Amino acid sequence: MEEKTYSGFVAIVGKPNVGKSTLLNNLLGVKVAPISPRPQTTRKRLRGILTEGRRQIVFVDTPGLHKPMDALGEFMDQEVYEALSDVNAVVWVVDLRHPPTPEDELVAKALKPLVGKVPILLVGNKLDAAKYPEEAMKAYHELLPEAEPRMLSALDERQVAQLKADLLALMPEGSFFYPEDYAKSDQTFGEWVAEILREEAMKRLWHEVPYAIATKVEEVAERENGVLYIKALLYVERPSQKAIVIGEGGRKIKEIGQATRKQLEALLGKKVYLDLEVKVYPDWRKDPEALRELGYRS
Ligand code: GDP
Ligand code: MG
Repeated sequence: MEEKTYSGFVAIVGKPNVGKSTLLNNLLGVKVAPISPRPQTTRKRLRGILTEGRRQIVFVDTPGLHKPMDALGEFMDQEVYEALSDVNAVVWVVDLRHPPTPEDELVAKALKPLVGKVPILLVGNKLDAAKYPEEAMKAYHELLPEAEPRMLSALDERQVAQLKADLLALMPEGSFFYPEDYAKSDQTFGEWVAEILREEAMKRLWHEVPYAIATKVEEVAERENGVLYIKALLYVERPSQKAIVIGEGGRKIKEIGQATRKQLEALLGKKVYLDLEVKVYPDWRKDPEALRELGYRS
């Protein structure tokens, strides 16, 4: 007799910077989503695939909900609603270090239509760093009393393992969406590299060029000497930003390139040659064509 399998989709939602990507990475045990101390690092919908025994979860990491500011903003909100329309459970992440803001209220409002249809887990995150977690949790729970509250730290292995077990148990009977041995994300290798590069660039540039940065990998080639050659582009919107990204004597871009290369080498376990170039793509965030080219629209 064939054994039953269980599988489904889980959306991870929440305003920017609450720890969605950190939680997803630690649920999966690998680095899939980019993490940054600045909001809006996650622009694309991103899947992570978790298979344990006869149970599988396909995670959807959504960009934070926020008011559409430009073409990119509109795209992000659409992604959130798409991500929510067909899931088996929702994980709503909030930051216990602070009480709810209007952005959290927006998320709660977006989740209201799902009440009674899909289990909603309200995850109060950053428990390790919160001064008044109980009070904060109560205030978040009041925004959506139907949600099931819990507190944790996305950095705490045991607490994340418990959440993982509970989510796996929520999956309905059904065949797997991905083969058991499928890679843990459906990003291409180039997209994955581009996100790591963007993460390293954002870390070092957020004072100067917050959201004007986009990245793209043009070429990946395995060299005969075992070195992985990667040609990547870093786009900015204006020539003045290009100068900032390059930095005095090329120092900034060198720093970004080195950090990216080190991360890639650690994750891949092989030597990487990163060929990095900064280009100006005027007003790419307002240009639908550019957004498509950079992978923000299909
Ligand atoms: P996202 O925008 O919701 O995806 O948030 P990220 O996962 O990028 O995390 C934003 C910041 O919060 C990063 O600096 C994380 O290291 C940090 N962070 C995430 N989870 C925790 C946690 O449980 N405790 C603490 N202290 N920091 C966390
Ligand atoms: Mg994120």
